Amino acid sequence: NDWISATDPEIARVIEDETARQQSHLELIASENIASRAVMAAQGSILTNKYAEGYPEKRYYGGCEFVDRAEQLAIDRALALFGADSANVQPHSGSQANMAAYFALLEPGDTVLGMDLAHGGHLTHGARVSFSGRLFHFVHYGVDRETETIDYDEVARLARKHRPRMIVAGASAYPRFFDFKALADIARAIDALLMVDMAHIAGLVAAGMHPSPIPHSDVVTSTTHKTLRGPRGGLILARKACGKKINSQVFPGIQGGPLMHIIAAKAVAFKEALGAPFKRYQKDIVANAAALADALQEKGLDLVSGGTDNHLILINLSRSGLDVTGKEAEAALGRAGITVNKNAIPFETRSPHVTSGIRIGTPYVTSRGMSADQMKAIAGLMAEILKDPDNRVLLKKTRSQVQALCDAFPLYPPADDDGR
Ligand code: PLP
Repeated sequence: NDWISATDPEIARVIEDETARQQSHLELIASENIASRAVMAAQGSILTNKYAEGYPEKRYYGGCEFVDRAEQLAIDRALALFGADSANVQPHSGSQANMAAYFALLEPGDTVLGMDLAHGGHLTHGARVSFSGRLFHFVHYGVDRETETIDYDEVARLARKHRPRMIVAGASAYPRFFDFKALADIARAIDALLMVDMAHIAGLVAAGMHPSPIPHSDVVTSTTHKTLRGPRGGLILARKACGKKINSQVFPGIQGGPLMHIIAAKAVAFKEALGAPFKRYQKDIVANAAALADALQEKGLDLVSGGTDNHLILINLSRSGLDVTGKEAEAALGRAGITVNKNAIPFETRSPHVTSGIRIGTPYVTSRGMSADQMKAIAGLMAEILKDPDNRVLLKKTRSQVQALCDAFPLYPPADDDGR
């Protein structure tokens, strides 16, 4: 930060303030994590200077011999981690990965069956405000009203009715396992492609904590910064038959020069993910989510689908008998130092700016080394605030308890402690 302070004290201050904020808050946002020092160092490296349009050994620029090595390492490690036929590590983000996959395998106007945003799907799975909903004819499946889990018979019925060219699975707010085999069978029966967007669960998949979509899918897209704990970015894994088309849709289809510093950081993250400490970490994420879910339920909070199989939990505030919206809950918990996001619940009646739910997840706090005891403590703090969001005395007490927890579990413990 010394270099930044000398050139730009305002941005240096932003970084200092954000570091202090992350250190002193319990980040429970399910899509966030703490990248390792090595990942951050690769992102901040000299590789940012290099143009390298094209792919390793097939570039449109000279001087690519070393960045070629970085990209090949990232590709080889992604393949070793997930076991696919081909990997593209160039997408700048998860949304770019999805765009490239659609452009490679669909024509504008094609019908696609994806998960409804309001039931946990992502914007790029056909929301009208997204390019996906504007360019393709999306129809949506959701969760069953009773079980709040995906009703695969209903997906099959919609598939037979609409005959989509592609089925998209994956979600931003679905706390249960996906049955990828069931989805592949549905797709095959109508001659459709199956695309799985595993952005949220990629780390779990890498460590065997969630069944892998790879054997069942034509294409799998992901981000690299959520449970996978890498730099912000995207990744596409595909069957041999689709790999070439995907490469040409990433570049030159929708992107120009790849971000070689980010690709190097992806390589570092994939190497970390291949190691034993990462497997233990993913196991801890899931164990912590289960412990947090149990403790919240003991405090009388109602969880969508009755619990969690993965790293995230959706709390239905209305059904918990609380007089608080998602927006109010996010603000009240935020004042106490607990960062969450408001989230629509299935069959939501409020606007997306208000909502009746909050989404929480354990990847970030697990990276800090927290375990079941801390999950129980966090559940207690959250329940108290949610029941009495305007109580200033409680707020002050909770804020200092949050601070104590944060102090005991630093963001970046001394190197070598935990494989980060
Ligand atoms: N897909 C899913 C399932 C996501 O949850 C997200 C991010 O929230 C994305 C794609 C998009 O990733 P990005 O924010 O990198 O564009």
